[in-house]
Amino acid sequence: MQATHSNADAAVPAKSGVRRVIVVGAGIAGLSIAWSLARRGIEVDLFEQGSIPNPKSSSFDEHRINRHAYGRLQGYARLMPESFRLWDAMWSDLGVRHYESTGGIYVLRTDDDWYETTAASLDEVGVDYHDIPLDQLERLVPMIESEGVLRAVHVGGSGLLYPNRILTDLVVHLAARGVRFHAMSAVTEVDPERGEVTAGGKVHAADMVVVAAGAWIDRLVPSFRGQAVPSRQAVLFLAPPPDLAALWASAPVIVVKDDEAGLYTLPPRNGTRLKIGDHRFSRIGDADEDRLATEADVESLWHGLRKCYRDIDRYGVLEQKACYYTVTEDENFLVRAIGPQGWAVSACSGHGFKLAPLVADSVARAIAGEAGAAEIERKLEGR
Ligand SMILES: Cc1cc2nc3c(=O)[nH]c(=O)nc-3n(C[C@H](O)[C@H](O)[C@H](O)COP(=O)(O)OP(=O)(O)OC[C@H]3O[C@@H](n4cnc5c(N)ncnc54)[C@H](O)[C@@H]3O)c2cc1C
Repeated sequence: MQATHSNADAAVPAKSGVRRVIVVGAGIAGLSIAWSLARRGIEVDLFEQGSIPNPKSSSFDEHRINRHAYGRLQGYARLMPESFRLWDAMWSDLGVRHYESTGGIYVLRTDDDWYETTAASLDEVGVDYHDIPLDQLERLVPMIESEGVLRAVHVGGSGLLYPNRILTDLVVHLAARGVRFHAMSAVTEVDPERGEVTAGGKVHAADMVVVAAGAWIDRLVPSFRGQAVPSRQAVLFLAPPPDLAALWASAPVIVVKDDEAGLYTLPPRNGTRLKIGDHRFSRIGDADEDRLATEADVESLWHGLRKCYRDIDRYGVLEQKACYYTVTEDENFLVRAIGPQGWAVSACSGHGFKLAPLVADSVARAIAGEAGAAEIERKLEGR
């Protein structure tokens, strides 16, 4: 596969004169930034407080949804074609494709503007979609409760990314390209005026520092406090009953939008388990806490599942997991130049994985002097 990036593998000095960058955080954001910088011939030192990858990071999981359907967040829908191209560039560099196209079924149980706003965006970017007659929904996905469904839509241009494999392969690839990894090295201070970080009581200097610290970012970037808020989210990994196993194994991504739940369902494909979460944000919690979801964490998720799925009590529970990401008031990303030698990246609100290579490439363009900081900030706000 041919890399599509304009400056891929250029290894010419960056126009900005930046030669060395420190990245904080080895989630998908930090690793993608390291990838985008290394492709431009810029040296990278990457600091991570835990192991690399870190099981406590938001990025560490079996699967994530990639899609063009974006409801009111139409600015992000417009970025998706470029985002898919950058994933292709990453697969090309890694020599393996960790994405499977499944299509998606959106089951609408609430009468909001999701269909109209999404259809307008999909028309604009040329992605196919069609209504599923409700009597056919029963046949296609009998595990869904069809009572109360107002509309069902099949949408193309969506599928599953496999994060754990992506993170691991990226680390191996980047190490071979000369990226220096500093695992178990918590950064305690960032100086974006001077491009410096403090880790293990020692100051490390570079031409630029990029903070991609996920749900911990507000500890290092004071201006993000109260704006990028850590949110504890619960997900369930389930084992379907034997009579539904084959149906689930070939199911697409399913999103159910209800007044009381926003359920996203990732089918058990390609070595992953069936996973269901709720897109509504808790906006509480501390990212240092463990990742075991309590009964209280999953209570409302079960309520939504019993309402929107059939026979859900016949499913076996494999894991109740808590995880953290940051959320902003309007779900838009916060990506900012925080000083003459510093950037902070919080690609958040539960949709940051799919856009990580695009966010990274955009920030790397600004750092390399290929684009202005304000232009990149505006673009990534997705407005
Ligand atoms: C359950 C769940 C479902 C999701 N579903 C989707 C989906 O379907 N599609 C999608 O696109 N997105 C989805 N997301 C969101 C997506 O996973 C996140 O937006 C993305 O992974 C964030 O990546 P990140 O690199 O910014 O943060 P993280 O992955 O959390 O990485 C940040 C890293 O920084 C490190 N760090 C923090 N502080 C320091 C420090 N002081 N010093 C050194 N290192 C530090 C952390 O240890 C961590 O490894 C989901 C998230 C969750 C939790």
